[in-house]
Amino acid sequence: MDKIISLCKRRGFIYPGSEIYGGLANTWDYGPLGAQLKKNIKDLWWKTFVEHRLDMVGIDAAILMNPTTWEASGHVASFSDPLMDCKSCKSRERADKLVEKWAHENNSADRPRHWAGEKTPARDLLDFITEKNIKCPLCGKCNWTEPKSFNLMFKTKQGVIEEEGKDIYLRPETAQGIFVNFKNVLETTRKKLPFGIAQIGKAFRNEITPGNFTFRTREFEQMEIEYFFDPDQSPWQEVFEQWKKDSMGFIADVLGINKQALRFRDHEKDELSHYSKGTTDIEYKFPFGWGELCAAGAYRTDYDLKQHEKYSGQKLTYLDPFTNKIFTPHVMEPSFGADRVALAVLLDAYHEEQLEKDETRIVMKFKPQLAPNTIAVLPLVNKLNEQAEKLSLDLIKNYRLEYDTSGSIGKRYRRQDEIGTPFCLTFDYDSLDDNAVTVRQRDSMAQERINISALTTYIDSKLYN
Ligand SMILES: [Zn+2]
Repeated sequence: MDKIISLCKRRGFIYPGSEIYGGLANTWDYGPLGAQLKKNIKDLWWKTFVEHRLDMVGIDAAILMNPTTWEASGHVASFSDPLMDCKSCKSRERADKLVEKWAHENNSADRPRHWAGEKTPARDLLDFITEKNIKCPLCGKCNWTEPKSFNLMFKTKQGVIEEEGKDIYLRPETAQGIFVNFKNVLETTRKKLPFGIAQIGKAFRNEITPGNFTFRTREFEQMEIEYFFDPDQSPWQEVFEQWKKDSMGFIADVLGINKQALRFRDHEKDELSHYSKGTTDIEYKFPFGWGELCAAGAYRTDYDLKQHEKYSGQKLTYLDPFTNKIFTPHVMEPSFGADRVALAVLLDAYHEEQLEKDETRIVMKFKPQLAPNTIAVLPLVNKLNEQAEKLSLDLIKNYRLEYDTSGSIGKRYRRQDEIGTPFCLTFDYDSLDDNAVTVRQRDSMAQERINISALTTYIDSKLYN
């Protein structure tokens, strides 16, 4: 992990947030290469799930929503973690996580009474922690306050006049922006069930224990789909299996993440939200252990639309044009974390290779369509800059391209390897006569002489094969 964090900083993928002011805990800024990489991932996701399908549409809803949304969704009442303070050293911990850590370390099946993860009653958590003498990880004492529930939504006020004292929240998930627009989308697109609405956007959760680089942050980007269907026409198990397949297809085939480092994980009964009938995650083998990349499918029944119907007083039903049945559609939710997927792509691409003469090269083996830059144009000597720059300007209309003139050609190759550029084009003296360049491939380091007029065909054949 340290190697990736260091490479990200050194080459401009990801920097610590607001670094010149000493940073802000657990915030990260994507640099030029990281921003491009994440954009490429989001673009491929949008193409795969929205543009290339007949049964999907996309929206881009506001981050700030009418606060009643969060009452309807249950976030105001129950989107919280049980926090307790160590009376000895004042550190703050999640009570349910301490229990889980203790159980894991002691290989014990014991749990508090009424155990329901973060929803376990505070008294039962405290009794258990005291009984088992579970100690503060910082000071080693067992001297805890009773857990208090701490809502994870970021609260703020809107405008100059505080509207009826109501708090505005930064959305904790993008999904609700889709549910509140269900009626609008249905009426304007005339979609027939089953169909899905997709959205990419930022969400915010005031987590007490973020960490592991960009894996868990308080501000993050989601790529979510709400797929609406009639459970009488399409059994939920079938819709569920299809989305598991499609989600895995995106991660493994479209993004090219190594299948050996991926697995499905079904949620246990006590992990499921009260309205959910089943959830399966796709996990990646991170250096710190298996971690969720996406919920390949979460079956939310008709819970969300029914809740919004109740709180808004608006009809959110569907009229089946063939049977005239009027009902509330059920929904399957595949939900991806863009930052986590980007982190997995970075980790999966990282390779160290032993070369001759005790030399190692670091190479980021991104799938070529994902690489921040597709091509680097490298003039062999400065005398050739004018012609090489002209070639760059021709190619940059069709490819993400970097033009690099400084340092020896060997050093420039190493740099492009480290940022994962699939093709380096070296413009040398012979190029002036034969109108060709040397193309070096990132993974094999093989070099070929290719005529400039044939470059596009050559590169496209490697990019889209
Ligand atoms: Zn302590």
